[in-house]
Amino acid sequence: MTRRISIFGSTGSIGESTIDLVARDPQAYHIVALTGGHNVARLAEQAIQLKAEIAVTAHEANLADLRARLEGTGIEAAAGATAIEEAARRPADWVMSAIVGAAGLPPGLAALETGATLALANKESLVTAGPLVLATAAKHREKGARLLPVDSEHSAVFQGLVGEEMDAVERIIITASGGAFRDWPLEELKNATLAQASSHPNWDMGQRITIDSASMFNKALELIETREFFGVSPDRIEVLVHPQSLVHALVGFSDGALMAHVGPADMRHAIGYALHWPERRHLPVDRLDLAAIGRLDFRPPDERRWPALRLAREVMAEGGLSGAVFNAAKESALDGFIAGEIDFVRMSEVVEEVLTRLSAVAGLIHAEINLDNVRAADQMARTEARRIIETA
Ligand code: NAD
Ligand code: MG
Repeated sequence: MTRRISIFGSTGSIGESTIDLVARDPQAYHIVALTGGHNVARLAEQAIQLKAEIAVTAHEANLADLRARLEGTGIEAAAGATAIEEAARRPADWVMSAIVGAAGLPPGLAALETGATLALANKESLVTAGPLVLATAAKHREKGARLLPVDSEHSAVFQGLVGEEMDAVERIIITASGGAFRDWPLEELKNATLAQASSHPNWDMGQRITIDSASMFNKALELIETREFFGVSPDRIEVLVHPQSLVHALVGFSDGALMAHVGPADMRHAIGYALHWPERRHLPVDRLDLAAIGRLDFRPPDERRWPALRLAREVMAEGGLSGAVFNAAKESALDGFIAGEIDFVRMSEVVEEVLTRLSAVAGLIHAEINLDNVRAADQMARTEARRIIETA
């Protein structure tokens, strides 16, 4: 049976890996929608290769270019955030959510409302609006709506929980490579360049998540993602630095057993698991030779090096819309670092200042978690972050 699938963020790292899997078995899939940002040439190429119904670019200014590239193919072209959301309302069985940042939330919610299975690479959805995403999936459950993790750690935990009772879970441990600056002297961190922060020792990912790995903001987001996805209390979630990135997560049970997920650092495993779930199918990833690898190292994270982890714990304790504020402040600080306005260390200081200032705004953090309030909190956090960055 042909499955109808859409890929949001198809031109990115996760999007390309998803296409790599799907393109190996073209008969099995009908591609509904593909979406991208500025890389219109690649978006059009993908749409033509996969015979998509529609290709959508996030930017209105790119529409004419996209139209010209798709002329005569019968593939529809559209542009803008609303068009992306509309594309997400087209019926599909399986939808990959791989836009980077808070922009991934609205199309993900729209896809769940149609009853699609949402493969969630966009961790920001759960960080900014976890309860809303889960409630939307539950509300449309009888139509088929379902959430599957794609983040490697969360896919690993999900796999470790198959056949288990949540009552028997004592703790969840997600691993972190430590990123580019794991072994740098602390006082050197402020001199880290954009190029240095954009290179990851183990994973080949988009630039933003690569820098977030160096600062551990990625792991901070993943702590919150773990809390939301699996519904465990924050004190049961641990981060462990594991430089080889081969053990992705461990689940600790009440009988003392630790179930570890071990596999190559290749996102096609987690994407493929979500694509074929609940079955396991052959995937084109390397098979590990543990004897050749020889050793696996683990160490606790240093919270002086990575203050983002402490901030994530504060956000989880606060709850409400503090995740939306945290994520938006982080996105703005990251923009500031990429633009050369602030140094690497300043990013977490900016985020902390935004959290402090906005948690004092009456009625903001503990307003109802709906899309309007998430957007309002997100906007306020970005404005506040800009103010802090500009007055530095
Ligand atoms: P990427 O930067 O390589 O790709 C992002 C995609 O989103 C591109 O198609 C881009 O055009 C599109 N995009 C960017 N801004 C947009 C906007 N405002 N509106 C609409 N589309 C927009 O990112 P990535 O590394 O593929 O990561 C995608 C998501 O998956 C992120 O949430 C990331 O945290 C998560 N993730 C990535 C990896 C990885 O290995 N790359 C692993 C785990 C989780
Ligand atoms: Mg991850």
